[in-house]
Amino acid sequence: MGLIITIILGVSFAAWLLLIWHYRRVLYALWREPVLRHPVLTIESDDWGPGPKSDAQQLHRIAQVLARHRDGHGHAAVMTLGMVLAAPDARRIRSENYQHYHRVLLVPQRFPALCEVMQHGVSSGVFALQLHGMEHYWPPALMAAARGDTAIQRWLEGDDLPRTEELPSHLQSRWIDAVALPSRPIDAVEIKAAVREEVETFSALFGQPPRIVVPPTFVWNETVERAWAAAGVEAIVTPGQRYEARDRDGMLVAGGGMIRNGDSGVGEVRYVVRDDYFEPALGHAAEKGWAALAIKSRAGRPTLLETHRFNFSGDPDIAEAAILELDRLLAGALERFPGLMFMSTEQLVRRMCAVDAELVETGLMRRVGVWLLRLREVPRLYKLAWLTGVIVPASLLFFVTRFFRADASVKSVLPAAG
Ligand SMILES: [Zn+2]
Repeated sequence: MGLIITIILGVSFAAWLLLIWHYRRVLYALWREPVLRHPVLTIESDDWGPGPKSDAQQLHRIAQVLARHRDGHGHAAVMTLGMVLAAPDARRIRSENYQHYHRVLLVPQRFPALCEVMQHGVSSGVFALQLHGMEHYWPPALMAAARGDTAIQRWLEGDDLPRTEELPSHLQSRWIDAVALPSRPIDAVEIKAAVREEVETFSALFGQPPRIVVPPTFVWNETVERAWAAAGVEAIVTPGQRYEARDRDGMLVAGGGMIRNGDSGVGEVRYVVRDDYFEPALGHAAEKGWAALAIKSRAGRPTLLETHRFNFSGDPDIAEAAILELDRLLAGALERFPGLMFMSTEQLVRRMCAVDAELVETGLMRRVGVWLLRLREVPRLYKLAWLTGVIVPASLLFFVTRFFRADASVKSVLPAAG
């Protein structure tokens, strides 16, 4: 009997060690990822740039909604604006028969209302400007497409300020040449010059260099990243992966492994993960945002909700509904998540990397508890934990960590036992 028990224990123990060895990288990555002590919510909106006066009016209304909702520290809700600095100068491009590219910059002389509402929002703490790109496309690729494709010519015909949301999605990627698919990489010298130009333009337009970048369609590569880092960019917003190309069907092709919050890229640039969505025009309700907030906060992660200009700038009824839903999202989040903190992505990254004790958990047992919860989200690992029986000591350890979770706000988002 004793021998059988010894053999079973020995085999189990060997299986556990094998499991740990096999998943060592995931175990370490999830351990290294910062554990936040409080739920954090940031609304990340992209694609703002040159546009009609109605965009400024909508941004003004959004700013009013954000300012109405304040966290326990008195900080207003924050929406990051992923800025596109220029649109095509369609009239000039047409007049030169699509031979040369010209841009319209987001300058106050031409877009006074837009620039004013953005600057005002920044100084009152409800907006935070991030770099999305000089353009939401690679200009040489757009021009090559326009010369051969009447649909692109029509896009440049309709309006003086065409909306890049209407471009085919592969052409919306800025850091690849996707005029023909599969896409081709852009020459490193051209990338460096374009990054330098967009960073300098951002600084000139807004009086401060960009600290956070959101790559258009999440396509970028190491050359782009190194150039951003050299220009002072501190962090890149990612969907948890880096897409480096488009295949023959225009689908995104990932390079490298999974990205987690706080991971470092080249040149010490940091990554944050944004993989939850709040697009009211596509039917996303406040409940979706609250659900994301519950899951992310339980795992000690910030909730960055991705949204876009198109929700707020299209059909007036849809735009109105989107603003009301944003209002409901924020009110409900404050009600449901005691201790909720609003902050910009820039503040989040800085505080996370500096291990700000108010925000980032340092207590060993509490970190272990959250780490175990995160591991549970790795489907195969969870199954194997059951099969090998390692679930038993892990559950016991998780149970013990419950006694260390004194912080009420964290407790409130952690599930009851298990
Ligand atoms: Zn975009």
